[in-house]
Amino acid sequence: MNTVLDKQAISQPLAINGGPKAMPQDYDWSHLNWPIITDEDEQAVLEVLRSRSMSATDITKLFEAEFAQWIGAEYALACCNGTAALLEAMWACGVGAGDEIICPSVTYWASAAPALQLGAAVNFADISPKSLCIDPNDIEHRIGPRTKAIVVVHYCGHPCDMDPIMDIARRHNVKVIEDVSHAHGALYKGRKCGTIGDIAAMSLMTGKGFAIGEGGMLVTNNRSLYEHAIAYGHYERTGAASRFNPADKQITDDGLSRFCGLPIGGVKHRLIQTASAMGRVQLKHFDARMREIQAAMNTFWDLLEGVPGIRAHRPADKGTTMGCWYYARGLFAQSELDEIDCAKFCEAVSAEGYKMLPGANKPLHLHPVFHEADIFRQGKPTMVAFGQRDVRQGPGSLPVAESINNIAFDVPWFKHNNPAAIVPVATALAKVAMHFARQARKAGTHKGTLPVAGVVTRDSASR
Ligand SMILES: *Cc1c(COP(=O)(O)O)cnc(C)c1O
Repeated sequence: MNTVLDKQAISQPLAINGGPKAMPQDYDWSHLNWPIITDEDEQAVLEVLRSRSMSATDITKLFEAEFAQWIGAEYALACCNGTAALLEAMWACGVGAGDEIICPSVTYWASAAPALQLGAAVNFADISPKSLCIDPNDIEHRIGPRTKAIVVVHYCGHPCDMDPIMDIARRHNVKVIEDVSHAHGALYKGRKCGTIGDIAAMSLMTGKGFAIGEGGMLVTNNRSLYEHAIAYGHYERTGAASRFNPADKQITDDGLSRFCGLPIGGVKHRLIQTASAMGRVQLKHFDARMREIQAAMNTFWDLLEGVPGIRAHRPADKGTTMGCWYYARGLFAQSELDEIDCAKFCEAVSAEGYKMLPGANKPLHLHPVFHEADIFRQGKPTMVAFGQRDVRQGPGSLPVAESINNIAFDVPWFKHNNPAAIVPVATALAKVAMHFARQARKAGTHKGTLPVAGVVTRDSASR
């Protein structure tokens, strides 16, 4: 059976102009609920509570071992949140006072802000308008003598173009930290995101694709980086021998064993075991649930293939996938819709029944924290307080990042491949886009032909 857009609804006047809404009044949004919690999760959490083992690490170590195997990395280290995992990953990579990291400007703040806590500066790079990930062509010229790491973010589930990034990093002897908070399970040319750079950190908080409450995970194949991360924030892990808990005397490279028993970072990054118990259950079901999300999101975007003004945010090449498609976005092509901008487009779609917002995360390079914040109370902004080059950038410096509100919009994060739930939303988008494209054509500002969009016949689970 074909899944098709509702042609009748599409032909009506726009709701914003007084026409009927494309979406049913009684549309039920509960299918978007996440994460999926079953008796199995509840039982696992209850066991931790009843054994009063919330602050132990036995279950967490099992979770780490299973997670490491699933992602295909040698070491996994659970943390209290993703921000903590990013902080210790940066420290492990050698980031310290007066150093620099490179990070895309459009991402959640935790991809970048931990660098400030280490006394380092962030040199923000622009993003690519197609992937919304760091633009590989905007990295190399930012590398200076104090650059220690490039943080890449597989943004909204879309894998970064890792081949050129790894090539640049290797040539300059700079570490690559993958922030996988949006892309658990995503593949880049057949390889799992999080296993390509030197080290990866990710959030597992309630809203993310892999969700366990509050939690984070660090993964790496590099034993030294792993041990440095432990030394920074996991005091209880130092000094006991096991594969996931190396003996301090095995730490040979940096004299870390002297600090055994106390965390060098002065922080405590241990994960609560109610979360790791839930994580073990979530992991068992993750691949199946991710595949269902992929099928659902591909159904949605296949329906909209060819509709003017909007594009799917998904990779074209086989073997590269969106994982569980967290923070799903669409791409806006204003030139095809004449006058209207993305905000106006979202307003019109919202009137049809799906409350849609333009943009994604706001560009970080313009935020006052990365210009003025004096975290160490030295009387000067931390970005320049330790002798760094001044890499602060004002308006106009990263044009694609600064245009984010006009090149991207949010779309529902479908968890179930149920056409009855997906078609009405796709119809609302198509109705608005086709209306404005027709206007543009009437006005003679757009010469293209209008496609016959919205018929899904092929296997949409291929991406
Ligand atoms: C959520 C998120 C983080 C931070 O993780 P927390 O678990 O919330 O601390 C880091 N990076 C990105 C890209 C995120 O989306």
